[in-house]
Amino acid sequence: MTIHARHYATGLPIRLEIADGVIASVTPSDRYTREADLPYVAPGFFDLQINGYGGVWFCDPDLTVESVLQVLAGYWMHGVTRLFPTLITSSREALCHGLATIRAACEREPWASQMVAGCHVEGPFISAEDGPRGAHPREQVRPCDSAEFEAWQTASGGRVRLITLAAEAVGAESFIAQTSRTGVTIALGHSAANSEQIAAAVRAGARLSTHLGNGAMPMMPRHPNLLWDQLGEDRLAASLITDGHHVPPAFLRTAIRAKGATECIITCDASGLAGCPPGIYPTQGQSLEVLANGKIVVTSQRTLLAGSAQTTETCVARCIAMTGVALGTACDMAGDHPARILRIPRIRLMAGCRADLVLFHHRTGNDPQLEIVQTWLAGSRVAGR
Ligand SMILES: [Zn+2]
Repeated sequence: MTIHARHYATGLPIRLEIADGVIASVTPSDRYTREADLPYVAPGFFDLQINGYGGVWFCDPDLTVESVLQVLAGYWMHGVTRLFPTLITSSREALCHGLATIRAACEREPWASQMVAGCHVEGPFISAEDGPRGAHPREQVRPCDSAEFEAWQTASGGRVRLITLAAEAVGAESFIAQTSRTGVTIALGHSAANSEQIAAAVRAGARLSTHLGNGAMPMMPRHPNLLWDQLGEDRLAASLITDGHHVPPAFLRTAIRAKGATECIITCDASGLAGCPPGIYPTQGQSLEVLANGKIVVTSQRTLLAGSAQTTETCVARCIAMTGVALGTACDMAGDHPARILRIPRIRLMAGCRADLVLFHHRTGNDPQLEIVQTWLAGSRVAGR
């Protein structure tokens, strides 16, 4: 197979040869003279935080293999070729059931195994306080528990690669030290930690801030506070929800300058209600609402965001519009950086890399978007014609 497109970082026309699921060669293309007609090609997007899609949540106690496969395949048209299914604060049984079901899906379908680069458990070792807890259920928040982590790894077949916890959770320091040694990345989030607690968590091995700027107190002292503590800590990379609702452009620009773009990750934090039309949806004991403007909120007060309705490619386009980063940089923030930071094999536009590709047009203006033309997973075209 041969693909002619523009390199996402240089804009130059290239010719990609694909054989046996990998990129066989990348050479300059002279086939087109009108470059503007050519789509861009980039490595497929890799999102660390995907809660579900189309009404399915990975932490649903009734999750089935079929619904896992349906969610995964739903992301092809959004240019996503790798992701971390994300399970938020739930009972131990629900987390283990979700992880075991994801494992079964990966064992049934090789393509699912190619897409699931790991699993992300966000909670339950987080702040119980209103505000930092976000939309996570308070009654399931609990102290750090190594035995429960072992149960997750048994259920998932060792797929848990990322855990988000609060630095102040009971037992956090020793839990971080222990789990980090097994190759799991510990991220800080949904927290009301003080400076010393954050410093201790970083010393113990925490390496990432989950959706920095969200999952925090709505009111906090001007300094010190956990935003400065994390922005100023070079050992913490940061994931950012760049959907245009979760954090304002000035915060995103500040975070990208403080960390450097190479230490920043774009995530959509797509809710299980992503892809659902506006309306009220009963979800795990509470009521969530998809608003007409694309926000997903807790129905009772309509301000607490419960994840995003936007998917990764939209967050890439909105990040560019809000911060002015280059297209190539934004694509890497949604693909290469998460792989590098999480120590997962990197996929680049180079001979020998797995042919996970997204072809798209970049639309700018009032409603910026990446219009996905094709998505390729391990050398097979899974979306587009
Ligand atoms: Zn969260």
